[in-house]
Amino acid sequence: MRRALVAANWKMHGNRIFIQELVSGLIPALSGGVNGVDIVICPPFPYLQMVDSLIKGTEIVLGAQDVGAHESGPYTGEVSASMLADFRVRYVIVGHSERRSLMNECDQHVAEKFVAAQQSGLIPVLCVGETLAERDQGIAGQVVERQLSAVIDQAGVTGFSRAVIAYEPVWAIGTGRSASVEQAQEMHAAIRQLIALQDDEVAQSVQIIYGGSVNPENAPALFAQPDIDGGLIGGASLNADSFVRICQSVS
Ligand code: PEP
Repeated sequence: MRRALVAANWKMHGNRIFIQELVSGLIPALSGGVNGVDIVICPPFPYLQMVDSLIKGTEIVLGAQDVGAHESGPYTGEVSASMLADFRVRYVIVGHSERRSLMNECDQHVAEKFVAAQQSGLIPVLCVGETLAERDQGIAGQVVERQLSAVIDQAGVTGFSRAVIAYEPVWAIGTGRSASVEQAQEMHAAIRQLIALQDDEVAQSVQIIYGGSVNPENAPALFAQPDIDGGLIGGASLNADSFVRICQSVS
């Protein structure tokens, strides 16, 4: 039986006062955990230490939004996986579509980040997903397969025994237009099937979460699907009440 996982991606939002208030709003409902759900919060880098202090002693764990592919060296502006681990970060998002499109991160570079994260003991949350044009062309499955294969090439399929996959159709991120329950379940099942072709045990155990305009209203139906193990939440995670309700909607 897989545990569910709900992760908050705050993106580049907030300041110290906002984050203090947001976390204070989460703690009463989430500190003791919810229905065996893994709850992860991914603040911007400068706030990691502050959030770590605020969630200490609770069931909420810390994640980061990105990681450099290198261990150390002349990479100005980059943050390594071991540095994140040093700050008690447990999860890290890699390959978010905003980084793939805005920072030109290719599949191979995302795979390098995935490997770097695991080498430092972090759990990568690998984001995959197609654009609207790719869905309209009928190649959504091929795009997701290509993104997953790049990681399998570098980490092996067993890399997914210590990772989370987030299916995030690009057209659903921040648009208010979530994938339908059927579209999401279909892609999640296809992802699991793809992994099962190489290792059924890994396929049955890997958490595959959905991201893209999840809110308290659509979360229950999405999370009730057999292959949807939770969500990666952007906009709705910036409101404590919404994020708590989303976490509580895992059945
Ligand atoms: C995201 O940032 O990964 C995301 C899914 O955003 P939103 O929930 O706002 O669509």
